[in-house]
Amino acid sequence: MSHPAGTTELTTSLTDDEVLLIRRDFPALNQQVNGHELVYLDSGATSQKPFSVLDAERSFYEHDNSAVHRGAHTLAANATELFENARSTVARFVGARENEIIWTSNATEGLNLVAYGFSNASVGRGGADATRFVLKAGDEILTTEGEHHANLVPWQELAARTGATLRYIPVNDDGTLRMDEAERLITDRTRIVTFTHVSNVTGVINPVETLVHLAHAVGAFVVLDACQSAPHRALDLAALDVDFAVFSGHKMLAPTGIGVLYGRAELLDALPPFLTGGSMITTVTMESSGYLPAPQRFEAGTQKVSQAIALAAAVDYLTAIGMDRIERWEAELGARLAEGFASLPGVRVLGPAADVHRAGLASVDVEGVHAHDVGQFLDDRGIAVRVGHHCAQPLHRRFGVTASTRASAYLYNTTSDVDAAVEAMGSVRSFFG
Ligand code: PLP
Repeated sequence: MSHPAGTTELTTSLTDDEVLLIRRDFPALNQQVNGHELVYLDSGATSQKPFSVLDAERSFYEHDNSAVHRGAHTLAANATELFENARSTVARFVGARENEIIWTSNATEGLNLVAYGFSNASVGRGGADATRFVLKAGDEILTTEGEHHANLVPWQELAARTGATLRYIPVNDDGTLRMDEAERLITDRTRIVTFTHVSNVTGVINPVETLVHLAHAVGAFVVLDACQSAPHRALDLAALDVDFAVFSGHKMLAPTGIGVLYGRAELLDALPPFLTGGSMITTVTMESSGYLPAPQRFEAGTQKVSQAIALAAAVDYLTAIGMDRIERWEAELGARLAEGFASLPGVRVLGPAADVHRAGLASVDVEGVHAHDVGQFLDDRGIAVRVGHHCAQPLHRRFGVTASTRASAYLYNTTSDVDAAVEAMGSVRSFFG
């Protein structure tokens, strides 16, 4: 790795100088867009990739490309070793065991996998232990008003398939969860409590420990959407005591097409599989099949081998810099973004006040200007942000808007990037006025 951040003495956060060196590892950041140096503030949607990740994927295809867990030849053995080592690396990164890490194509697939497991149990699939996943009329699934659609629609479908009722914890005006409502809504009827760790719209960090405690007190399963936390902060899923968790590689320096489902081992061994076919079976007759234990039980078909290996390279890169330092740096950038935007007349930050601890992102509504026009205006100045509802329509509805403009930072953003976005945002209304 060419950046020196892993070799400098530990500081509590990163510095702009270190970030400028980190940035050299990311080829896509070194370009001009519309005549300006690119300011990439759309990592909440997807992150850029360092050379070490690009090299890992290329090296796999140049030297080791082969099907895993199948061939008897040397390349197959090498590919299998790299693939399973990648699983160990990712497991260590999130405080899990290897057999608790399932490769998926993204977080969305992981959430659907869990939701299908519950509905397959409800139609009598899975082993004897699967009865604990059976949902029926009268049971409740609890989510929140602040979810990405990926953590809402699969539960709506699960409710429709099983007759269970979907409820949600509403949010306060600043996007934080109504914990009084959480306490009221988590009852003996609750079977699943699912929520995002960090909001992709407001940057709010939800109180995982409290929600896990409330859910487990009534015997409910906890599903954590860690899409906006795993890339940005140290995670210990075993310590958090969640039952399932998901995240996507592409948001954490890895390629698209690879995601992770974490599940507590004893739950994964009982949960009915989602996709079935090759690679996940023990014996197959014309009438029926036996299934392997997790993780293979959930990994039917040819796997995402190069992407998993590249995800491990991404994890190595993040670990070398230090997740705690990344988290602190992004908290500084997030506060600077929120404070800067909030100081602009006619610009409303969706989410908590700037002095409330948040992740490194901020979404705004600009009075009288549609988010798409804001995004275009910023893009003309080389600043990449996300516009629209960010796959969180109910939350936008709660805030009384249909769309917003989101700036989201990562370890390769400097304070100058944030200041450039704030300055450009400050000119939006006069330009369109
Ligand atoms: N959950 C959250 C909080 C997200 O931000 C995203 C992506 O934007 C997702 C889930 C879905 O991720 P993917 O599209 O990679 O499956």
